[in-house]
Amino acid sequence: MPIQKTHQKVDINKRRVINGEDADVIQLYPMRHTFAWDAYNVGNSNHWLPTEITMQNDIEQWRASDVLTDDERSAFKTVLGFFTTADSIAANNIVIAMYKHVTSPECRMYLLRQAYEEAIHTHAYQYIVESLGLDEGEIFNMYREVDAIYNKASFILSFNEGIFDSNFKTGTFESDQKFLENVCIFSLILEGIFFYSAFAVILGFHRQNKMVGSAEQIQYIMRDESQHLNFGINIINTIKEEQPELWTPEFQQKIVNNIREAVNLEVEFATSVFPKGIFGMNAEGFRQYIQHIADRRLARVGLPLQYNVPNPFPWMSESIDLNKEKNFFETRVTEYQVGGTLDW
Ligand code: FE
Repeated sequence: MPIQKTHQKVDINKRRVINGEDADVIQLYPMRHTFAWDAYNVGNSNHWLPTEITMQNDIEQWRASDVLTDDERSAFKTVLGFFTTADSIAANNIVIAMYKHVTSPECRMYLLRQAYEEAIHTHAYQYIVESLGLDEGEIFNMYREVDAIYNKASFILSFNEGIFDSNFKTGTFESDQKFLENVCIFSLILEGIFFYSAFAVILGFHRQNKMVGSAEQIQYIMRDESQHLNFGINIINTIKEEQPELWTPEFQQKIVNNIREAVNLEVEFATSVFPKGIFGMNAEGFRQYIQHIADRRLARVGLPLQYNVPNPFPWMSESIDLNKEKNFFETRVTEYQVGGTLDW
């Protein structure tokens, strides 16, 4: 379609996350969803690459016979098995499904950044697998072989039928609800719940001074993921403001039910992968931790808490919130700012 020639400027009041004015190009201004632009800038200043982190200690510990127990090795490999494919599910959802229905230029800018970060995460897992000389076929195929991983991946992928369909279009009550449901599932559940027992295990290694290079990779990933989750929550809350009719009591109940089902799947994952517990975290601790974070996700989109349990792993929130204090984050950011100035 040729570009329409007009002096008519874009009307900020017609900007919407979905169902906004059709545009042939991204006109970033006038900017309405400033949370997305802020997230884009945070993403850039948090930029990192897996290969910057030395894996030497991890390689030595993995080769040594007296550092890791058999249970620890198996737990390490299984969480890696979950991770290697999980970020690509998020990436596919952004690129193949979500992006084309989003009509806010600034939200699209962040989605482009987020998609790249998902690629960096998949790269990080590949880098760990390669550095440690693990069997790639074993790790990368786990989502089809290990029930607890398969069940989580299938649960998420079962929501793809709607907005992945090439005929899917927003603009009706049903399709807009379908889009909103997709964001809830991918943000609140995939990015907000399904990563967290695996994160806890890797940080458990870190707290024992084991596999610290891998743990550092995962800390960077956690920092990115908490931004992805924030952005998803902002998208949900903004669509609720722009199209309040979508947020019906039935719809809210459906989201709550999905989150409750996801909590069960995540508890099943944690208890089957670490049957004897690991680093002092036992089945009951994982259950409470997962319920606790699910409540936090529910609260942020205005849905009722379901579990009301205290956080049994308070050190997890410290690890997520440490980004401003910890030195390695700050030094990377500075390096990127210097490296960003090209000298021809
Ligand atoms: Fe993500």
